[in-house]
Amino acid sequence: MTTAEAVDVRPAAVEVHAVHKWFGAQHVLDGVELTVRPGEVTVVLGPSGSGKSTLLRVINHLEKPEAGHVSLNGEPIGVRRHGERLKELSERAILAQRGRIGFVFQNFNLFPHLSVLDNVAAAPVATGKLTKPEAQALARDLLGRVGLADKADAYPRQLSGGQQQRVAIARALALRPGVILFDEPTSALDPELVGEVLAVIKDLARSGTTLVIVTHEIGFAREIADRVVFMDEGRIVEQGPPAQVLDHPEHDRTRDFLSKVL
Ligand code: ADP
Ligand code: MG
Repeated sequence: MTTAEAVDVRPAAVEVHAVHKWFGAQHVLDGVELTVRPGEVTVVLGPSGSGKSTLLRVINHLEKPEAGHVSLNGEPIGVRRHGERLKELSERAILAQRGRIGFVFQNFNLFPHLSVLDNVAAAPVATGKLTKPEAQALARDLLGRVGLADKADAYPRQLSGGQQQRVAIARALALRPGVILFDEPTSALDPELVGEVLAVIKDLARSGTTLVIVTHEIGFAREIADRVVFMDEGRIVEQGPPAQVLDHPEHDRTRDFLSKVL
């Protein structure tokens, strides 16, 4: 076999297998299968209520699926093998796993009482990965990367929504996660602030960071996604390269959704 034909033998960055999630009687994730390769950018589309946020929360183990499993770099999330059986991990072990996943929310969720610098530096110190001076040096680097080197001493309320979201991205990067999950990162922003946040995400995508992004920004998806996943009613209806899913969707539900958002 030549190198060009070599298969990627690394474990998937994220593997979601046969995942089912119910809220009461509502079947919110209905047998979801998703594989994200290292360095890949996956964009998840779908109507409101289709289960996109729940899928991200299951990947991050903020929600526990009733069936199926999720692994990160080949390691199961939330459980460990115990002979033939799976045992639940301790809360502490789950927190350690969660540290390998970055999560960027629609509403930024910064700590209001901490400076921008400390927002970014907090997690590596709290998890014992870095000393405070080391974490602050890293935070300054990361703030430079998102174009906010001059805002280190500001507080979140003094920043625009776009700036706050860029701080949230720097904060997610501070734990050097294997994958970053974005849940509608630009939905809460005024239109003129969307571009600056998308530019930072694009920069991460180009640098080979593994990303899973829920967004309604179709043009952005077309530009940066390796794969587009369309969800409806808790199922992945179709997935593939953007040119396939966005320009030649196979399913009526995908066509219908795209006709509404494009
Ligand atoms: P999306 O992000 O695609 O809009 P969600 O994953 O947020 O969809 O929600 C999918 C469905 O699950 C919705 O009907 C929502 O109301 C329901 N849901 C989400 N979270 C909860 C919860 N914690 N308790 C009960 N129902 C929930
Ligand atoms: Mg959502």
